[in-house]
Amino acid sequence: MSTAAPEAPAPAVPFQFFDLHVVRTRRLGPTMLRITFGGEGLRDFTSGGRDQRFKLFLPHPGQEAPVVPTEAGTEWFPVWRAMDPAVRGIMRSYTVREQRRVPHDEIDIDFALHGDTGPASHWAARALPGDRVTVLGPAVPDNGGVDFRPPAGTDWVLLSGDETALPAIAGILSWLPLGTRAKVWLEVPHADDIQELPTLADADITWLVRDNTEAHRTDFVLGSVGAAQLPAGTPYAWIAGEAGTVKQLRRHLVRERGFDRRAVKFTGYWRLGSSEEQLVEEAVSGAAQASARG
Ligand SMILES: Cc1cc2nc3c(=O)[nH]c(=O)nc-3n(C[C@H](O)[C@H](O)[C@H](O)COP(=O)(O)OP(=O)(O)OC[C@H]3O[C@@H](n4cnc5c(N)ncnc54)[C@H](O)[C@@H]3O)c2cc1C
Repeated sequence: MSTAAPEAPAPAVPFQFFDLHVVRTRRLGPTMLRITFGGEGLRDFTSGGRDQRFKLFLPHPGQEAPVVPTEAGTEWFPVWRAMDPAVRGIMRSYTVREQRRVPHDEIDIDFALHGDTGPASHWAARALPGDRVTVLGPAVPDNGGVDFRPPAGTDWVLLSGDETALPAIAGILSWLPLGTRAKVWLEVPHADDIQELPTLADADITWLVRDNTEAHRTDFVLGSVGAAQLPAGTPYAWIAGEAGTVKQLRRHLVRERGFDRRAVKFTGYWRLGSSEEQLVEEAVSGAAQASARG
């Protein structure tokens, strides 16, 4: 299979801020809500497809637009972090589900709603046309926000994720070359969350519906992947979703299935009991400790 990402000259600024507004919303099922965003600046927005991630900044209740230090350019993060958390835009990570150029510049983001337990889920459930957000997103197609990069020599791919990774897995499946062998596990809360996922790949998709089981989410996924007969040849795995489940599944693939650990791309998209602010602060203090150790 040919999977090398297209070569591009090193971009000066691969990510930029974009001021966007909600154009429309569409319910995809009990859990998933698609929000379509538009805005003048989208002309320069350039998704690399697959699992293209970006940062979404949301306003606090009572603010018309999120407060984001866009003027700080590439130095925005320390400036944003030093701002009052009650004022600065609420930062969350999301995936570009689709980008369109015609008839208008638009992007779709699919939000997994989990009630009012998080500000992004709360905001999305109430989003109305005209509501404003800021996005730190890609300005070149080959950018560091795309993680799905199977190396040359990959014979087949394994994809696994929960509803938060469904947009990324949908993007990966729509990108995979014709006939690529793919084994896919997708965990969703309800049967009505199952979606059509167009692909040219030779994809075998197993939907794991949580409301059919009493099993803990990790045991549910591990049980299904663990019982599966996997294809022969060199695999590349991409797994995302709840961090504890992702960690266990990666361990299973590396220790029990003999996957090369460099061929397993894994990302905790969220963690049970922790908000994204808490995860960002953990990452910052982990990086500080690592640099202190030299
Ligand atoms: C690279 C990347 C791409 C992502 N892409 C998407 C995407 O396209 N669509 C999408 O919906 N999500 C996506 N996510 C996950 C999303 O960023 C998190 O779910 C985020 O925590 C939601 O923010 P919140 O404000 O709703 O909740 P937070 O304030 O961050 O969390 C509040 C509480 O809710 C819990 N929680 C968070 N998410 C969930 C959930 N899905 N179900 C149940 N409980 C939850 C947390 O454990 C915490 O206890 C992505 C994450 C990453 C890192």
